[in-house]
Amino acid sequence: RKFVYDFTEGNKDLKDLLGGKGANLAEMTNLGLPVPPGFTITTEACKVFLESGSEPPELRDEVSAHLDALERRMGKRLGQNDDPLLVSVRSGAKFSMPGMMDTVLNIGLSDASVAGLAAQAGDDRFAWDSYRRLIQMFGKTVLGVDGDLFEEALEEAKHAKGASNDLGLDAADLRQLVDTFKQIVAKEAGREFPQDPREQMDLAIRAVFHSWNGDRAKLYRRQERIPHDLGTAVNVCSMVFGNLGPDSGTGVAFTRDPATGRQGVYGDYLQNAQGEDVVAGIRNTVPLAELERIDKTSYDALMRIMETLETHYRDLCDIEFTIERGKLWMLQTRVGKRTAAAAFRIATQLVDQGLIDEAEALRRVNGNQLAQLMFPRFDETAAKDGARKLGRGIAASPGAAVGKAVFDSYTAVKWSRSGEKVILIRRETNPDDLNGMIAAEGILTSRGGKTSHAAVVARGMGKTCVCGAEELEVDTKRRCLSAPGGVVVEEGDVISIDGSTGVVYRGEVPVVPSPVVEYFEGRLAPADARADELVTAVDRMMSYADRIRRLHVRANADNAEDAARARRFGAQGIGLCRTEHMFLGDRRELVERLILADTDTERGEALDALLPLQRQDFIELFEAMDGLPVTVRLLDPPLHEFLPDITDLSVRVALAESRKEPHENDLRLLQAVHRLHEQNPMLGLRGVRLGLVIPGLFGMQVRAIAEAAAERRRAGGDPRPEIMIPLVGTVQELEIVREESEKVIAEVAAAYGTELRLPLGTMIELPRAALTADQIAEAAEFFSFGTNDLTQTVWGFSRDDVEASFFTAYLEKGIFGVSPFETIDRDGVGSLVRGAVEAGRAARPGLKLGVCGEHGGDPESVHFFHEAGLDYVSCSPFRIPVARLEAGRAAG
Ligand code: ADP
Ligand code: MG
Ligand code: MG
Repeated sequence: RKFVYDFTEGNKDLKDLLGGKGANLAEMTNLGLPVPPGFTITTEACKVFLESGSEPPELRDEVSAHLDALERRMGKRLGQNDDPLLVSVRSGAKFSMPGMMDTVLNIGLSDASVAGLAAQAGDDRFAWDSYRRLIQMFGKTVLGVDGDLFEEALEEAKHAKGASNDLGLDAADLRQLVDTFKQIVAKEAGREFPQDPREQMDLAIRAVFHSWNGDRAKLYRRQERIPHDLGTAVNVCSMVFGNLGPDSGTGVAFTRDPATGRQGVYGDYLQNAQGEDVVAGIRNTVPLAELERIDKTSYDALMRIMETLETHYRDLCDIEFTIERGKLWMLQTRVGKRTAAAAFRIATQLVDQGLIDEAEALRRVNGNQLAQLMFPRFDETAAKDGARKLGRGIAASPGAAVGKAVFDSYTAVKWSRSGEKVILIRRETNPDDLNGMIAAEGILTSRGGKTSHAAVVARGMGKTCVCGAEELEVDTKRRCLSAPGGVVVEEGDVISIDGSTGVVYRGEVPVVPSPVVEYFEGRLAPADARADELVTAVDRMMSYADRIRRLHVRANADNAEDAARARRFGAQGIGLCRTEHMFLGDRRELVERLILADTDTERGEALDALLPLQRQDFIELFEAMDGLPVTVRLLDPPLHEFLPDITDLSVRVALAESRKEPHENDLRLLQAVHRLHEQNPMLGLRGVRLGLVIPGLFGMQVRAIAEAAAERRRAGGDPRPEIMIPLVGTVQELEIVREESEKVIAEVAAAYGTELRLPLGTMIELPRAALTADQIAEAAEFFSFGTNDLTQTVWGFSRDDVEASFFTAYLEKGIFGVSPFETIDRDGVGSLVRGAVEAGRAARPGLKLGVCGEHGGDPESVHFFHEAGLDYVSCSPFRIPVARLEAGRAAG
């Protein structure tokens, strides 16, 4: 194994081995750009060090050989007394990572060679400045001395001299400072600053290896989901000096504006300075454009190089450079970070420049960026004024929402009906809060994490949500929210919540809508004068994605309004229409009658009353989705969810009893609630089990669907319903429902004198269903993977509980990098999906396959579903553009 690569040996594709910095230094070297010569020690060497506690035995000789070659090439030896070669030792992992060891510059200087450097440069001040920097950086990063001690000594020296910045110190002052620094090292590190240049270099290299496992680095990796076993490379680079006087300097540059993508001259420059000075803010930098005046030759050279880099990398690059006495040197480049808006603009700009094709453009953006662009945000400049920060929670669903505080769903709905904007504040939410959540501008909870009910539902609806704001106390009885410091928000007070940062304000912070959503809504055409470059870029990227994607994208929508919006957003049908909302609100009473029915007649009457209501819902839905498939899921949740809360009801009954008021109905209800009570409702009487136990329930729903289809057909429409049976575990369940359904459909067809072909399929959301997919496919015309329930049942996790109890600990321990409810677990749940796809298609060629549930709108999961060969994903209307984009990226 080879552990050391000269800059001339590597290239940009060797990031795994050479780290990002090393790979790009090599790439620039090979492009013929002026890079100071050097070499890179591989991540492999680091891995050996981390595993065994010492460098690989071959490393020392390899480093010596490369150092030798470098010395010969430069015509001087490391730390040579009369003319020292100096180097920097720089960390550089595959991904740039804060928390890794800082770079040490000027390695090779010592008490002996500092005079040689001064003589060679003809500049004493420069030599002592370089030496004090070395001791400072080395002391801090390699020997672990508190950096403030050096800073304080430096401040003191400036103060003694009356100097406003480091340039006010002369050679003698700096020489004095070197002595002080050496004393600090000796005292704090318990050893002298090493005078042997090679020892300096070796210690620095080892410190870089060590820093891979520093606490800050580990924490960062966990947050960013960077594997812990990559290791870091180490770059040894011969020094060039920006601190050699006014004709020297150092700077950073971008090949285009990372905020907007616009081409131009972006960067900062600092004369007579070294390395970090530019970003450390020790003196004021000047805009890069000024360099043209200061040193036109170097400026022109830099502009040419930036163009070379852009054409070569075909992307925005950021750059670190140094000018040494009028000669430009390149010290680093990489494809630069950018905002979401810039990512879209740059991708299309590069297509126009002929540098990349459409498929590549799609690779340059992602669904998370698109989602970011879709959320309204607080007007930055206007924030703070008049609004007071109340506290902070978890940024659960991005966006900015302003409204009057309300503390229950009922008030939320009532106030919003009368035109008020409201923020629903709850300790935590549950399915009963759904209407309130829909009515509210945003949701604030004091409990629960990123995957709590509030967070998941809000994200699905594209609604702003801050959850788990534990410093805020929610009192729903007294209808108020208390913040630390005694501030109390009463019902009706205006608050603002920022779902992108988690900050909660009292008062109104102005909000600006997203032009990207206006575009998707059809209110802003790319040709419109109001549309900016961003809208045009998004429009173009969406059409690239639509052209190449194979996955269809459908919506989860339960009503005509959502369906219409979904359609505007590009949905190709509905993949999941939940029918449970059709049992809520005013209809609860009918459902109660259904549940309380003692006889077939009573039950039949309740069902007959529900039928026309359901039918009308479906007619509207099919109309909104005319010509496109609408998958209707028959009733799924356990019945008790439609009954009043057991405590409320008990109280009501007890009160009525004590007041001797009539309460017979409540008493019957209470008995029913007790009868239906389950320890584990999620694994209880729900889904197809309900359909098999409550006679006529599924039949009524199928009839409503069939009649709605017949009505639409009669009205000249093109309805395409598909009937989906939830929670099937065995084909026998499905066969019974199928038999009953086919009878009903035939009756309706005969009654309307029309032919009705309604495909009947099932959800695959239980492990047993996935494992017997071949049998189930005999009775199902389509599968829709219900990956929420499948994840719950495969892992044995209750989604509603685990988030609060142990997910944080699991995430912290790195057991998973992301909740399996957010991104599909490829290895476990994913393998069941793959198996069921294969078995299902083998049993029934042409079987239609889709997925509904949270994962359908998750970027990474969409890629999995593409690979697994599904026909479509279905997600909430707001996620449709994201799913379209990601489906395109997956196919590209
Ligand atoms: P970071 O990863 O923090 O940017 P770098 O290794 O790029 O760390 O170095 C820190 C600073 O030192 C940068 O400004 C860089 O340009 C400068 N620098 C690094 N090596 C040299 C060198 N050989 N000569 C001059 N400046 C250097
Ligand atoms: Mg750098
Ligand atoms: Mg389910």
